[in-house]
Amino acid sequence: MEISEERLAENYRVLAQAAGDEVAVLAVVKADAYGHGAELCAPVLAQAGAPWLGVTDAQEGVTVRGALKLAIPSSQQPKVLVMSGLLADEAGAMSAWDLTPVVWTIEQMEWLRRAVESRGPGERLDVHFEIDTGMTRQGAVPGAELDRVLGWLAAQRTLRLDGVMTHFASAEVAGSHLTLEQQQRFEQAMAQVRARRLRPQWVHAGNSSTIDNSAEDAHADAVNASASSSRLPWLRRIAAEAGARPMVRTGLGLYGYCLPIEQEEDFLGAAAAQVRSRLRPVMTWKTCVIGVREVPAGTRIGYNGTFTAQQPMRLALLPIGYADGLRRELSSTNDRPGGWVIIAGRCASILGRVSMNLTVVDVTEIPEAAVGSEAVVLGEGVTADDHARIAGTIPYEILCGLRAFHALRP
Ligand SMILES: *Cc1c(COP(=O)(O)O)cnc(C)c1O
Repeated sequence: MEISEERLAENYRVLAQAAGDEVAVLAVVKADAYGHGAELCAPVLAQAGAPWLGVTDAQEGVTVRGALKLAIPSSQQPKVLVMSGLLADEAGAMSAWDLTPVVWTIEQMEWLRRAVESRGPGERLDVHFEIDTGMTRQGAVPGAELDRVLGWLAAQRTLRLDGVMTHFASAEVAGSHLTLEQQQRFEQAMAQVRARRLRPQWVHAGNSSTIDNSAEDAHADAVNASASSSRLPWLRRIAAEAGARPMVRTGLGLYGYCLPIEQEEDFLGAAAAQVRSRLRPVMTWKTCVIGVREVPAGTRIGYNGTFTAQQPMRLALLPIGYADGLRRELSSTNDRPGGWVIIAGRCASILGRVSMNLTVVDVTEIPEAAVGSEAVVLGEGVTADDHARIAGTIPYEILCGLRAFHALRP
């Protein structure tokens, strides 16, 4: 798997530019950088200017911090946000590895407080606090629950509230009622934060699609001429009220993909994608042909013989399969085509079932194909969107399901 350093850095710049000058962009490298290799990608994104990286748990945070330490001087290290809560036994790693946990319960903060205090007097730890504005996954619910937890946080000194965040359920839907409701709840929650005299440095919300879909709020704010020139006016307003910096968290877009924008039924604005067309896939997943053979008409191919050659065919064998993340849904039958790879610039269709570690493709029309020929499994001519469409899923699941050796390429 080749990871293009140039494209990764360029996608970061495209997203950062689209987010606007005042809005910072956190680069999400969770799930091994969506299958791209977090240890390769984290330093590239840091050098591209990401002030924050996002991981899912302490273990990933330790890996990413370790990779950053090898590549980046300590004064220029980005912060690392651990986004999916924590377990009691992860609390110690947060302060030891300079990670910033996302929290929303007193229990979590008690674990952290004890871990930090055990490191010595005067030790402090920054935390980011998540508000559940409607996704019902993680976060404190605005109102009495939020006030109780904020009250606890405001009363002690070991933990410092560095950020407040929320996450949207329908960022790719233009004119989403759900998103609007979530933005309003977030604003109410921020009023509760202010009422407790807490002063976070950062306020963040949204993902790649939030930036891609930001034409709609530029539209909504068109009356306000100065706001229309910069994106995400609601986020900038909420952050400004708190005296904090606004930030968006991008993952998929960094790797060159973005969900298509959908529209709420009653949406009247123009839903134009802001960045989708300018993002380029970062990963090229390649393998080599390990066998070539010719078969007569009538030959059945692969498990259960789901594909039968209708005429003499030339087949190439590839040493990859579903164990590597090549989805089994890309299998074919005579009635239903499946996926394809690119060999010598041409499409070679997958024939029969994708097996655990082997896949057969059709090279009847590709005479150059020989043992050792390169086959592009994902890259120019075949994308994670193609695989997702055939497998009935989203590109996220395709990318983070891949398992391969990674190498960085300029
Ligand atoms: C994964 C994640 C993101 C990034 O989302 P993309 O759709 O990949 O841009 C943002 N915020 C949180 C909390 C996440 O878990």
